[in-house]
Amino acid sequence: MSYKYDHRQLADEMEIFFFDDQIGAGLPVWLPNGVALRDELENFVKSLEKKAGYHRVVTPHLARGELYQQSGHLRAFNESMYPPMKWPEDNSNYYLKPMNCPHHHKVFSCSPRSYRHLPLRIAEYGQVYRYENSGSLKGLSRVRGLCQNDGHIYIDPNDAEAEISSVLELHEHCYSVLGLKGYRYRLSLHDPNRKIDFDGPSNLWIQCEEILRACLIKKGLPFFEAIGEAAFYGPKIDVQMKMGAEDEESIASIQLDFNSSGKFDLSYVASSGQKRQPWVIHRAPLGSHERFVALLLEYFDGQLPGWLSPVQIYLLPVDEEQQAYAMQLSAELAANNIRSVVDQNAGSLSKRILFAHKLRPFAKIIVGPKELDSGRLVLEKRDEKVALNSADLISRLKDMIAIP
Ligand SMILES: [Zn+2]
Repeated sequence: MSYKYDHRQLADEMEIFFFDDQIGAGLPVWLPNGVALRDELENFVKSLEKKAGYHRVVTPHLARGELYQQSGHLRAFNESMYPPMKWPEDNSNYYLKPMNCPHHHKVFSCSPRSYRHLPLRIAEYGQVYRYENSGSLKGLSRVRGLCQNDGHIYIDPNDAEAEISSVLELHEHCYSVLGLKGYRYRLSLHDPNRKIDFDGPSNLWIQCEEILRACLIKKGLPFFEAIGEAAFYGPKIDVQMKMGAEDEESIASIQLDFNSSGKFDLSYVASSGQKRQPWVIHRAPLGSHERFVALLLEYFDGQLPGWLSPVQIYLLPVDEEQQAYAMQLSAELAANNIRSVVDQNAGSLSKRILFAHKLRPFAKIIVGPKELDSGRLVLEKRDEKVALNSADLISRLKDMIAIP
């Protein structure tokens, strides 16, 4: 796959985000066009997750060090965590949240659970902070503050294969709707020679790795295996894709975790009446907004599908006389959930068209005296022109920008 553009240049032209020295390196500020794109992705996946039985939660951006001591993050993930904030009030160190998992484990344990509650699927678009080296920061693809399409599923270990299969189906569905091709799966295994980096007994590692392998084989999904790439708490299936000129990177992962229940003393009452420990599946089909938007911008060279285009219609009045009509049309589009911009620039029409192209709208409409008189509009899409009666515009557009 070849990419013509770097997402940083595209995002700049499309007014997606910016960085500011006083705010801090690696901490993106999302502009309205970027938020339109984030919101579409978020609404899309939230609706799928709702149908798949997920419950949404919201957890704080920071927590006391004890939580990350218990989860093992302070040991295994310390280098990527921001330094602590000392709060003399309760004599604690507070850390910015590097991952949502420990918070979700607390959601599991906040009330008694039985086998009837399982699988318990918890989801959150959760903001996390990671102290990446300044040298490795890169646009939106490597940042210090990111918002993850996170979710944790608490299961009876016997249900692991069925639930992992459903999660794989969710991933496949998302990528098919988004039109993404060219990714592949990686089965990331522990390294038996580096026991210190991988918590828990070997037999459980091997059992969980076999479950993940069986799911990929049964679904007929091509994959390769990588020793030593597992998370410290369990093996995982990564979705690997090439971004720009860079090497292949993980855009999402599904992790099977047999360790966290023990660390957090998570338990449920089985149908036999006995107390059991659940396993946890960590999953994030759309990764983080930051990395995923970078990927989509580069993948589509900025020409996003209609439903994701931050500017769906760019309206260009030829001169002052058509300005009021364009504004009225834009209001009508907004009332129908169609995002549009009315050109406000000075200068020749050709210069203003060039500016419009930088925003990569799904389509543009030039409104001149002829269009105003006849009520016939020409919708100029990226690859074709469609002549429409203004009365049909909204319904035709709705079809064109619908989620496929
Ligand atoms: Zn997690």
